[in-house]
Amino acid sequence: MSTTRPEIHCELLVIGTGMAGMAATLFAARRGIDTVQVGMTGEINFASGLLDLLGVHPVAAGQTWTNPWEGIRQLIADQPLHPYARIGIDAIQAAMAEFIDFLNDAGLPYRYEPRKNARVITPVGTLKTTYARPATMAAVDRALAENPPGLLVDFPGLKGFSARQIRAALEAQWPGLRVVRLPFPGLEGELQPERMGRRLEVPAARQQLADTIRAHLGDARIVGLPAVLGIARTPQVWADIQKAVGVPVFEIPTMLPSITGLRLRECFEQHFPQMGVKSHYQKKILAMPRRLDQSFIASVGGKSHELSVRAKAVVLASGRFFGQGLHADRHAIRETIFNLPVYQPADRSRWHRKALFHKDGHPIHHAGLAVDNRMRPADTTGRFVYPNLFAAGSILAHQDWIRQKCGCGLAIASAYAAVRAGRDWLRSGRSTQP
Ligand SMILES: Cc1cc2nc3c(=O)[nH]c(=O)nc-3n(C[C@H](O)[C@H](O)[C@H](O)COP(=O)(O)OP(=O)(O)OC[C@H]3O[C@@H](n4cnc5c(N)ncnc54)[C@H](O)[C@@H]3O)c2cc1C
Repeated sequence: MSTTRPEIHCELLVIGTGMAGMAATLFAARRGIDTVQVGMTGEINFASGLLDLLGVHPVAAGQTWTNPWEGIRQLIADQPLHPYARIGIDAIQAAMAEFIDFLNDAGLPYRYEPRKNARVITPVGTLKTTYARPATMAAVDRALAENPPGLLVDFPGLKGFSARQIRAALEAQWPGLRVVRLPFPGLEGELQPERMGRRLEVPAARQQLADTIRAHLGDARIVGLPAVLGIARTPQVWADIQKAVGVPVFEIPTMLPSITGLRLRECFEQHFPQMGVKSHYQKKILAMPRRLDQSFIASVGGKSHELSVRAKAVVLASGRFFGQGLHADRHAIRETIFNLPVYQPADRSRWHRKALFHKDGHPIHHAGLAVDNRMRPADTTGRFVYPNLFAAGSILAHQDWIRQKCGCGLAIASAYAAVRAGRDWLRSGRSTQP
């Protein structure tokens, strides 16, 4: 007995539901491109929710930048193959602004100063440079500049978040901090940020928490809490708690997995259907043959083939080793869906340097897909492999997002450039007619 599987047609298939896949889907949908998105859980679930643009360059010198655009200009001059050089500063700026505007309109407010990197307090009390942060974390600027009497709160059972440790680490920058450990309303034992966040979406629970904090407020003029202020209703939870406590309240990211990544994910998942996107989460591309008319036909499913997606163009945002866009075996690094050429060291013995903490990092971190100026994966001669296949995110070669502190910036800007090139291709009349 033969089974007929549904086949859907679209202009653009986005592969990946990490930051690059979400950004590509967003940019495509906003441009009226008929888009299907397919992907398994990405690193976005583990992400801190902070949008880094460029923190460090050159990596070996550990040079940090207050103005990330000056850093990017320098990076483009020093590393002309870096994806930022392919994309260009104007497009990176436009991408970041459009992405953050969307989050603000979608009820997940972010704060940034266009020409300046910002700081947040980490769960161990150090300061991390980033570009845009959830609005709930922005009051840290005032706290560090003015040092008002402050109260840091933690909860028994929330692992990896100690107000005492944060106070000790911050003592020089912010003297006069007090700490208190308070019971969390309605939850006991080991506390998970996701459960805490959902619990505070119940009005009575946040009122109870605010009442308990107020009882310990003393002279504090600002209160710091772990990032647990709701998931889908964070602005409401945050506003209610601030009002009830009576002073500004700010969040400090928790250890991973934190809910700030989950907030981003839920925000996209909630808005994409209204924007006409057909998303298939927790589904994989099992095979991807290409037809004579240049369209791709993706076999999509969990373990077995459940539906086919026929697409005129594809944005590949399948991540690196963790995301499973790249796979390393005993001999080489492979791209897992199209078997595209992967830029990589000549042999395995050169993947890593002998010194684990070498100041330049390791060559394997620069491996990935080399692309042309239109973000199309290219072979060693620089020629694109397919005219209608574009790549975005951490799968790209010639970058080291962890050391350069440019993870989300790279994902968002390359998604913008890939969608722009994809749209040009679709609109140029060379598109196939499924
Ligand atoms: C722990 C952690 C902390 C981070 N902190 C920060 C931070 O503070 N600031 C910052 O800017 N960035 C941070 N990042 C980086 C950032 O969140 C993104 O992970 C990074 O930019 C890469 O995103 P990506 O979309 O390219 O890849 P990924 O997030 O890896 O996504 C790849 C996607 O492709 C899908 N995929 C792969 N193969 C297939 C297939 N065959 N079929 C269907 N789908 C497939 C995967 O399921 C996944 O959805 C952090 C990342 C991690 C892991």
